[in-house]
Amino acid sequence: DVPVITIDGPTASGKGTLADEVAHELGYWILDSGALYRATGLAASRAGIDLDDAQAVAAVARGLDLHFRKGRATLAGEDVTEALRAEATGLMASQVAAHQPVRDALQQLQLDFRRAPGLVADGRDMGTAIFPDAGLKVFLTASAATRAERRHKQLISKGISASIEGLRADLEARDARDKSRSASPLKPAADALSLDNSAQTIEESRDLLLRWWAE
Ligand code: C5P
Repeated sequence: DVPVITIDGPTASGKGTLADEVAHELGYWILDSGALYRATGLAASRAGIDLDDAQAVAAVARGLDLHFRKGRATLAGEDVTEALRAEATGLMASQVAAHQPVRDALQQLQLDFRRAPGLVADGRDMGTAIFPDAGLKVFLTASAATRAERRHKQLISKGISASIEGLRADLEARDARDKSRSASPLKPAADALSLDNSAQTIEESRDLLLRWWAE
């Protein structure tokens, strides 16, 4: 079977960066599962659909015309790379992700990312629901203060201003919703290894994961 490494954890814990680094080192494919929920939220909201309407949003998820190429994402032919990363889109994603029919609609799409020589998948339920047989499962955390600071730096580097307090409130609200929902709530898989990367550089986290993977 094609090997899989899963990295799950709360908002802005550094999952995406770590997944990119590890996938790059191993020459593996990458699945940013959050992007699928983000694209679903964005597409549904643009179509004027009520994000609380599970069936209507699931239909959008099933018909998602989303493509990733050379670091860019297109939705129905339109470049949505920046729109997908927006805070507002993250909130819409967490709203639509609470519906089980939406999660079901996106399941096969996620499984299709599993291709030789291997896959690094990041999200909330990669190790618990989508790839329960993954060879290495990591649950990545960082303090709320650290996560808000990192998000703030990211935005500043793009010339976007935001308050750290506001960002922290947003990410804590999103985490609370992701943990308390009944459909695939955010929680570590029973066999996941936990890593708090608050005081670690990305290189330190990457090297630790590669050691775990080699064991
Ligand atoms: O990771 P990211 O911030 O892009 O995820 C956006 C939202 O999508 C999360 O807050 C979560 O509600 C949802 N999500 C999910 N399951 C995943 C990935 C993301 O429910 N595997």
